[in-house]
Amino acid sequence: MRERRASCRTMDKAEFLSAPRKATMQLDFLGDLKRTHRCGELRSADAGSTITLMGWVNRRRDHGNLIFIDLRDRSGVTQIVFDKERNPEMHARVESVRNEYVLAVTGMVERRAENTINPKMETGEIEVIASELKLLNESKVPPFFPGDANVNVNEEVRLKYRYLDLRRPEMHANIEMRHRVTLAIRNYLAGEGFYEIETPYMTRSTPEGARDYLVPSRVHPGEFYALPQSPQIFKQLLMIGGLDRYFQIARCFRDEDLRADRQPEFTQIDLELSFPTEETIHGVVEGFLDAAFTAAGYSIERPFPQMPYDEAIRLYGIDKPDLRLPAMTDVKALLPANALETLAVDRALPVVVIRTPKVGELSRKERDEHKTLLSEKQGKVIKFFDDFKRLEKSWPEAIAKIRQLSGAEEGDLLVMVAAPKKAETVAASSGDAAAVRRLQRDSYAVYANAGGFRLALAQRYAARHKAFEGKTFKFLWVTDFPSFEWNEENETWTFAHHPFTSLHEDHMELLNEGVRALHDPNSALGAIRARAYDVVLNGTELGSGSIRIHQQEVQAKIFEALGMDEAEQKLRFGFFLEALQYGTPPHGGVALGLDRIVMILAGAPSLREVIPFPKTAAATDLMMEAPTPVTAAQLKELSIAIKK
Ligand code: ASP
Repeated sequence: MRERRASCRTMDKAEFLSAPRKATMQLDFLGDLKRTHRCGELRSADAGSTITLMGWVNRRRDHGNLIFIDLRDRSGVTQIVFDKERNPEMHARVESVRNEYVLAVTGMVERRAENTINPKMETGEIEVIASELKLLNESKVPPFFPGDANVNVNEEVRLKYRYLDLRRPEMHANIEMRHRVTLAIRNYLAGEGFYEIETPYMTRSTPEGARDYLVPSRVHPGEFYALPQSPQIFKQLLMIGGLDRYFQIARCFRDEDLRADRQPEFTQIDLELSFPTEETIHGVVEGFLDAAFTAAGYSIERPFPQMPYDEAIRLYGIDKPDLRLPAMTDVKALLPANALETLAVDRALPVVVIRTPKVGELSRKERDEHKTLLSEKQGKVIKFFDDFKRLEKSWPEAIAKIRQLSGAEEGDLLVMVAAPKKAETVAASSGDAAAVRRLQRDSYAVYANAGGFRLALAQRYAARHKAFEGKTFKFLWVTDFPSFEWNEENETWTFAHHPFTSLHEDHMELLNEGVRALHDPNSALGAIRARAYDVVLNGTELGSGSIRIHQQEVQAKIFEALGMDEAEQKLRFGFFLEALQYGTPPHGGVALGLDRIVMILAGAPSLREVIPFPKTAAATDLMMEAPTPVTAAQLKELSIAIKK
């Protein structure tokens, strides 16, 4: 092994940046040179072999007679040594090489001396003594260095120079994970007899509840294709077509308000089966999730537990419960009448207790801050009591029972939530079905707000209960969703899932009743439950699906319940209502968000970290600079005029 020169020095970043990059270096062609290894592969067992590596300069250290270059490709980094004494000409060329230049290097693998072994590098036991160099390309000074441990630039710069950002090992790892997970899912589904089938991007509106992205037709002036919000109708048509089991890693397009975990175009693992029960579909989903999690190095427990929607609301106040923390406990029955009176809570509505584990003693100030966790709007629907010691003084027996029922242990925080007493209390005792439904709506509002408060407390005390740390995967099927949702704004009922979702067979009567009260928030439509299910992981919805309607009359009735008269039904879904009449088999399916699954498996903070070319929160592509205006000629061809 060579001695390192005592006076060795590394260029610091400022020096590196100011160092002149030769505008035109003599570049080499690759010719028929072949690489023998990847930059992350060589180990001490390779010592003595002559190899060829190709990649990017991750780092360059000039020690005078010796120049060290860390050469990087997607598999890792290898240290290459250029020795002036052995090859002065090559050494001189390397002097002008800078980070992100592209090189091909042939050389001999040598075991490093004991004291220069770098245990932090996978290839840290060896280095390559260069004998041949091809300078394949130069690079401008990049806005950030992909090889830096902390790329200290804002996300906009990363997105603008995404191709450089993609060179970072973290991004490589995420994309490799995405590949591995997708492949595992594909293989699993193929093994279960699913065909991978593509469906069109240029189509007509598919009703998933978002706005469509439209594509103008040149050939049919004034007419538009819609990009699919999902392949829903196509996959059902594939079942009518007798294909039995379909899947697709499908791109979906939805023009909706964006959040950190939403993108205007995103990928779903979309599938559909003929003649299934819910159990068949759940089994397939659990199977491919198992394959995906195994591919990412995790094992999961199956079968996943199931919970009907109404129970999820009662216990968690939300349709995607996070099971890592305790459910809420209904405690109204344990409180004496005078307690409800003194605390000024609405006795017709639920009273629940939220338990947050291991919070410990709280100061007065910390308790006071709980108020800030509720918005003004939430504060109108619920009130809360977090001083259990005080409650205990007035109602010792009741509070002892509440503690016991909620499973409270030493140090757990208990917060009781109820609805403030209103001047007129809702009475359901009249027995009238609409009053019962109104009461249920009000009760659900209390549960929902209490559930929101439960999550806010869970976040606030996350460092104490530690339930969100580590990789605990709590899956859950939420089933029996409401078929319809009341839309306050339009004062009408809209579909909760999509309009092809089958309802429970014994709810057909409610449907017949409900279509007569389309604009009544207490209509029987609100009581209809669907054969729909969501798969939830740690409080995040991974996907949803349903058993579909396969009978034409039922489908037409659902459209009617959604306020579509016959003419509109014919206009929007005529082709589908027609297709349903040619021997449609019972069928069902599901779709799960692939981006989200990979994000969770990669432990990434946003979907953008696992999508190679994502859009910003404002739905723009900063690198391609899309969307863009188009030329007057293009608009003219499309018969489109832009209103200024
Ligand atoms: N098409 C539905 C969605 O995208 C999923 C399904 O029902 O299969 O959410």
